[in-house]
Amino acid sequence: MSTLFHNGWVVTMDDAGSEHRGGWILVDGAVIVEVGNGEPPAAAERVDLRGAVVTPGLVNTHHHLYQTLTRARAQQAGLFEWLRELYPVWSRIDAEAEYAAARTGLAELALSGCTTVFDHHYVFPRGREGLIEAEVRAARELGVRIVASRGSMDLGVSDGGLPPDELVEELDTVLAETERLARALHEDGAGAQVQIAVAPCSPFSVTGRLLEESATLARELGLALHTHLAETVEEGAYCRELFGCTPVEYLERLGWLADDVWCAHCVHLSPDDIAAFGSTGTGVAHCPTSNLRLGAGVAPVKELVGAGVRVGLGVDGSASNERSDLFFEVKQALLVARGRGGAAAMTVRDAIRLGTRGGAAVLRRDDIGSLEPGKQADFAVWRTDGLELGGAGDAVAGLVFSAPHRVDRLVVGGEDVVRGGALVRADEAEIARDHRVQARRFAP
Ligand SMILES: [Zn+2]
Repeated sequence: MSTLFHNGWVVTMDDAGSEHRGGWILVDGAVIVEVGNGEPPAAAERVDLRGAVVTPGLVNTHHHLYQTLTRARAQQAGLFEWLRELYPVWSRIDAEAEYAAARTGLAELALSGCTTVFDHHYVFPRGREGLIEAEVRAARELGVRIVASRGSMDLGVSDGGLPPDELVEELDTVLAETERLARALHEDGAGAQVQIAVAPCSPFSVTGRLLEESATLARELGLALHTHLAETVEEGAYCRELFGCTPVEYLERLGWLADDVWCAHCVHLSPDDIAAFGSTGTGVAHCPTSNLRLGAGVAPVKELVGAGVRVGLGVDGSASNERSDLFFEVKQALLVARGRGGAAAMTVRDAIRLGTRGGAAVLRRDDIGSLEPGKQADFAVWRTDGLELGGAGDAVAGLVFSAPHRVDRLVVGGEDVVRGGALVRADEAEIARDHRVQARRFAP
């Protein structure tokens, strides 16, 4: 059945950056049929957007949903100290807590305009099963797309790594579990609701062998690869001491600079590193709020985009960015780019592009990220009649500069996920209550 969404300001994020004031989107089932302005075509159902701004659904490229259980800890700590404080707390995770955490994080993201969420889960205490299945179940219930990763850590403190020994796994277990999950859950092709990625945690928590064998397995299975990289100055010092090179050189040695890889953070990159990312097609998940919260620095996004690197945005886990609001991250990306490179470093539309088209490219998805014929009907509708938009003739710029906002309507594959600012398929208050019960088990 066809539905016409009309009388909106449609920000398509197509190659030309087309926008249609007084525009419309014609949807048939899960897919966009046509986008335009002027006289709209006939449709079985018509929805008047009353001047709202419509953007593509946002795509989150880095997160740790379980961390909603442990917010506002290690408040003054940098990355390594923060991790050392939190690892033992995270070791209490089980499927029930993961489900509650995922529902909370995914609900927050949906209410911020996000339609596709990548999650990097790497804490697998022995004997706790069903963690990835729990987050996939939460995503299915809420109606958002998820790319869940089977993360891993196999380099404990007694072998020179950062995590405690009881939280690291055997390499063979990691690979077998990754393959099992991929075969059980991964969907290929346009419209995929659930995908699996392969994501060893970081250079200071996994062995080189696990990085290499993970890459081999991912390439056999056709899955994307992800890890944390070059987040802090401390990580650079760690790599120099243990491997005699920079984090980027280390990944390059292990076959990890490639177009099926994206890395979170990439704050501390040299001009050569940026060129290497560009020439190999390696992608980046830019997480400005988390990087500010942990005092890590600001990634050179203008330079990365200039080198042709695929760059998307991530809210990162809620223990280092207490708010899972991806539209707010669009604003943060704009502000940090300007803080680093001056007022001309990034436009509002460039920032929206990072959060939509950029994220889709990072996740290697050409079926989402823009509003064009043939793409999935994934979009966010933003009201423009609130107090904060008054006086903003350019409502699109006004939205970004005045973020955050609660999305008015969120559509994923033609289905409503948020309507009138409320979750359609889940009860926000019930999610919050259940989360509070689970979070008590992680209290200091
Ligand atoms: Zn992270």
